[in-house]
Amino acid sequence: MKLYSTRNIDEVQMPKDAIIKGLASDGGLFCPKYEDLINAKFDIKNMLSNDYNKTALEIFQKIFEDFSTDELKNCISNAYKNFDVSSKNTITPVSEIGNNFLLELYHGPTSAFKDVALTILPQFLTTAYKSKNKNSKVYILTATSGDTGKAALSGFKNVDNVDITVFYPTDGVSNIQKLQMQTSEGNNVSVVAIKGDFDDCQKLVKEIYTDENIKKICEENNVVLSSANSINIGRLVPQIVYYFQSYIDLVNYKKINLYDKINFIVPTGNFGNILAGYIAKLLGVPIDKLICASNENNVLTDFINTGIYDKNRELYKTISPSMDILVSSNLERLLFLISNNNDLLIKNLMQNLNKDGKYCIDNFLLSKIKDNFLGYYATQNECIETIKNEFIKDERIIDTHTAVAYKCMEKYNEEFNSNVPCVILATASPYKFVRDVLKSIDDSNFENCDDFECFDKLNNLTNEKIPKNLFELKDKKVLFNDILTYNQCKDFVINKIKIN
Ligand SMILES: *Cc1c(COP(=O)(O)O)cnc(C)c1O
Repeated sequence: MKLYSTRNIDEVQMPKDAIIKGLASDGGLFCPKYEDLINAKFDIKNMLSNDYNKTALEIFQKIFEDFSTDELKNCISNAYKNFDVSSKNTITPVSEIGNNFLLELYHGPTSAFKDVALTILPQFLTTAYKSKNKNSKVYILTATSGDTGKAALSGFKNVDNVDITVFYPTDGVSNIQKLQMQTSEGNNVSVVAIKGDFDDCQKLVKEIYTDENIKKICEENNVVLSSANSINIGRLVPQIVYYFQSYIDLVNYKKINLYDKINFIVPTGNFGNILAGYIAKLLGVPIDKLICASNENNVLTDFINTGIYDKNRELYKTISPSMDILVSSNLERLLFLISNNNDLLIKNLMQNLNKDGKYCIDNFLLSKIKDNFLGYYATQNECIETIKNEFIKDERIIDTHTAVAYKCMEKYNEEFNSNVPCVILATASPYKFVRDVLKSIDDSNFENCDDFECFDKLNNLTNEKIPKNLFELKDKKVLFNDILTYNQCKDFVINKIKIN
């Protein structure tokens, strides 16, 4: 499919180029057109015998049409061989939780759902790169609220012709998340803490991409900037696959009938995961509602309910830090799709967002959003209670982000009393947020335990294994300790470009 800048449909790229570029030159995001997705619709009946990799291949063939089938097959097998499939023989198993379902997306190499896309993005990028015969170097800048960073560092480790720097907010991530990043090995990786929050990190990266001076320095040094954030279309498309595959699995397990509609409840930050769900719906997954679950940073809940997006509010630090975000980048793609590719409108809205921190959509667009999405949020106390209840009721231990989704599902059920089956996206291993999870289910005092002792305590309560990558952190050396201000970060990047 051709991919268009959301802010100017005259800027068109084929997928390989869009993946290399990351962001469009006007700051827009590359996105397929609504009608192209509708025209590519699958009949899910023909996919029932697919395993994960087959489903992935069929979806990539439609969207990333300038990749050959062999190229795609290679990308898929290289990416997904590193997942732990011991539990169910698939990289994203579906399990039961009460009367509903949990889509477990955290069995990858860094124990967060970001692995599904960030193991394959480097494959797409190097494949695209090779076929373009480029001799320049790619420099990947990544802003992270915690999980993207490590997943990207792991995915791009020692990849030829690629350098990567990850920026994370000093106080905005869990101990384990921080340790995962600080101990990253590889001859092409660097990690920087920013004095600020995730939105500052994201703004920094976007600013660097469009900075004319930095553009010049890149050209002089033969470096191309790219992104591992979900603004890169190569991040988004792999996430469509598990919406299909989980539906296929539920039909095959006889939990639902073919073409029954189901809901997905998605713990949301940057709106990447849930947007992939919307694209899956356009491509043929029988989805009733996509439920956007937020924590106290409930900008999206307000937006879905009122049509007003207003980031002028305090950013709360919560126990679900990967969702502590006020500017959800991928919403721009949703607006592009539901407005039938109205690039002028998107350009204006994004200008308003930049200028006033705020924009408003009309009732027609809002009603189209409401046809597909519902928005709820859960407070920190509600999450703690939910983790505890789920442990007692269903003997399941869910992480702090998944708990937000679970609580939002309960709020939806209270409001609508519907019997549509719900699939909750479980986005991280509970071990990644071990301290808050443990405190939720056990009243003892853990102040004197380090995170690794907490692993053992949680392990004793559950049959969920401690993921190997987290367990091994204990013996790893901290390699990155830099804390920089916003302005120092730009100099850091310029320096990196020059020594490449
Ligand atoms: C990134 C992340 C989210 C939010 O996903 P988006 O695609 O940014 O909406 C939710 N939970 C966890 C654990 C994450 O790492």
